[in-house]
Amino acid sequence: MSEQQWYKGNIHTHTTESDGDEDPHKVASWYRRHGYDFLVLSDHNHLTLLGYGTGRRRFRKPLMVPGEEVSVRIDGGATPIHINGVGISRVVEPVDAGDVVSTLQANVDAIVAAGGIASINHPNYEWAFDHRALSRVEGASLLEVFNGHPRANVFGAPGRPSYEQIWDSVLSAGRVIFGVATDDSHNYHDFTPGHSNPGRGWVMVEADELTQDAIVGGLATGRFYASTGVALTRLECSADGIALEIEEGLHIVYTTQFTGKGGEVLAESTGLTAEYEAVGDEEYVRATVVSSSGPSAWTQPVFPAVRDAVD
Ligand SMILES: [Zn+2]
Ligand SMILES: [Zn+2]
Repeated sequence: MSEQQWYKGNIHTHTTESDGDEDPHKVASWYRRHGYDFLVLSDHNHLTLLGYGTGRRRFRKPLMVPGEEVSVRIDGGATPIHINGVGISRVVEPVDAGDVVSTLQANVDAIVAAGGIASINHPNYEWAFDHRALSRVEGASLLEVFNGHPRANVFGAPGRPSYEQIWDSVLSAGRVIFGVATDDSHNYHDFTPGHSNPGRGWVMVEADELTQDAIVGGLATGRFYASTGVALTRLECSADGIALEIEEGLHIVYTTQFTGKGGEVLAESTGLTAEYEAVGDEEYVRATVVSSSGPSAWTQPVFPAVRDAVD
């Protein structure tokens, strides 16, 4: 069996095929030059495919995984429902099913029917929906815990949950869904806080090879972590718990929180290593590493099993 490796990728990316300001080849080139191993171009309601070039323009990385941001406004109005299809084999037509839950469900189903996995995008964009709707939707694999768009409202507001709180609520409702960090990049020329620039959020997938099957399979089964700048040098996740090591940054302090049902903090520690040994009655456990300068990393939840009382 070949060695497991970590592969860096962004799964939410726009180009001139929808409302991005650079063409697909140049977008892929930006990600290649910045060390990404794979990339999902996710134009609105459009499957942007990229050949691998010829002669000197041929490239091996990033691996291009087909994608689309299936995008619809309910009744053409104020509620945008955006769901990424990752690994789809054909374009997915968006469905307006009349209400939030039915529309989320119909588009998740359409993505799965097209051979992809569904990633629920930016719930707080225009405050479209939250955990109450999402907890009623089945079959979605991924949920954004970070989105780099300046109007994504990642951190919530008074009376409005953050993405991380939405994720905990959906997990607490018994849905198995994994958290992704994404760029939602649109702007490749002007780098300012008000633009939607590449390089803000990504995933690190553990796989034994850089192929579409291995990457999509790793995303679908939670063999990855999400990051906005914190790198992990070791990550072990099992029903027994989570252990991790953090790559050191100069004069930066790292705090790791282990979170369980209802968003309850089960344990917290500071330093470059953190470990949580499951007791067994947690319904799930996940880790968030926050650095003193802002960036974070999120591991995926593990689901401890209640152990027998007698060994
Ligand atoms: Zn969107
Ligand atoms: Zn988008």
